[in-house]
Amino acid sequence: MSAIILGHKNPDSDSIIAALACAHLYRERGLDVVAAAQGTPAPETAYVLERFGLTAPEVVTSVAGRDIYLVDFSDKAQAPADIDEANLMGIVDHHKLGDMTSSSPIEAIIWTVGCTNTIIKRMFDYMGYTIPAGLAGAMLCAILSDTVIFKSPTCTEMDKKVAEELAAIAGIEDIQALGMDLFKAKSAVAGTAPRDLIFRDFKDFNMNGSTVGVGQLELVSLELVADMKADIQAELERVKAEGRHTAMFLLTDIMQEGSELMMASDDAAKIAQAFGQDPAKLAEGNLWLPGVMSRKKQVVPALEAAFRG
Ligand code: MG
Ligand code: MG
Ligand code: MG
Repeated sequence: MSAIILGHKNPDSDSIIAALACAHLYRERGLDVVAAAQGTPAPETAYVLERFGLTAPEVVTSVAGRDIYLVDFSDKAQAPADIDEANLMGIVDHHKLGDMTSSSPIEAIIWTVGCTNTIIKRMFDYMGYTIPAGLAGAMLCAILSDTVIFKSPTCTEMDKKVAEELAAIAGIEDIQALGMDLFKAKSAVAGTAPRDLIFRDFKDFNMNGSTVGVGQLELVSLELVADMKADIQAELERVKAEGRHTAMFLLTDIMQEGSELMMASDDAAKIAQAFGQDPAKLAEGNLWLPGVMSRKKQVVPALEAAFRG
């Protein structure tokens, strides 16, 4: 049976396109692999696949007995429940090292850049294979999505350089315009159930024994969700009640370059303090976190520090 290349739960554009791009590269290398995803594409990813003529990977929720390559994660919490029964073959990722391990030597490339697809572009270069134009366009979109059009603190010079190289391959002249097209597709939230919005890009983290779930929605304007906030807050209470210490939801305004923090928590004051906010402000409603755009680089480390103490 083919080995599976799989991104994280609640897949984003990077996870889905990294699986497709790695599958292309690994097949070029003669490996028997198939791209997979732990869910169907969110609207932004659907837009990218459609625009560049690609097909969504097959949905896989069980990996027992299979050879598996991970892309865009290495945390068991973001893997299928039976991950311990799979045989880990490799990892390509740009997050903190998770808790996966292997029983034999693996190919692991983990790099502190803004996007898994930046790494994969460099793997194509290093190994001497070319990228088809459509795939290059989609890989560029993954970089624009993960780096929030190069504005996120996770963005590196390497991401920008690779983005330009991919744009040249794909024949794209205006990278910024492509980025805005993406975030407009992502911002089409009207009529979406609050639960679907929260879980569209949601990750659970084990914080010193407490489960903290963090959802993030990046929008071109927070006005788009203004009249949905009461329903979102009610849903966050339910999400917390499903066994979590805290359910957080970051509404990131990509133009204002900051995030509004909504949450349901057993200890909201502790969470507020983790982000340098006065807990007294909680009574006034949601917290505005200026400059906070990255869950990986700004939110998770702050929470880890707060829960360690
Ligand atoms: Mg991701
Ligand atoms: Mg990523
Ligand atoms: Mg992201």
